[in-house]
Amino acid sequence: MEEILCPECRTKGKKVNIVTVESLVEEEVEENDSYQICLNSDCEVAYFNSSGTIYYSKEDLKVAVWYKDLEDDKVPICYCSNLTRGEIKEAVAKGYKTTAEIRKYTGKSITGNCLTENPTGKCCHRSLADEIARYSN
Ligand SMILES: [Zn+2]
Repeated sequence: MEEILCPECRTKGKKVNIVTVESLVEEEVEENDSYQICLNSDCEVAYFNSSGTIYYSKEDLKVAVWYKDLEDDKVPICYCSNLTRGEIKEAVAKGYKTTAEIRKYTGKSITGNCLTENPTGKCCHRSLADEIARYSN
């Protein structure tokens, strides 16, 4: 399969469902196309189409992209329940170590809307674990 590169940073993207793009981009999205998400944390581009002729920057999205705003504590890590980086930091500082403990402590346990809420369209499980690891020790 041909590699599709971000038109801005030329790194390889990851395919996202059109439903995700339509849910999170403010403006009308061209439906007869397939989209990729840019995984480069330093790049301003969020989504781009397969031919690289259409792209949406992170400012075009209704939500912040957690791995593109690494120092922002208000960014959600779990988008379904709006569990933010700051809340994870706080919970870890108080000694909560697992996803289950942190969800219980914060009361933010809604999951399952990842397709329309999370910029990658995927479950936050992995990124939540990464954030916990980042603030542990
Ligand atoms: Zn990029």
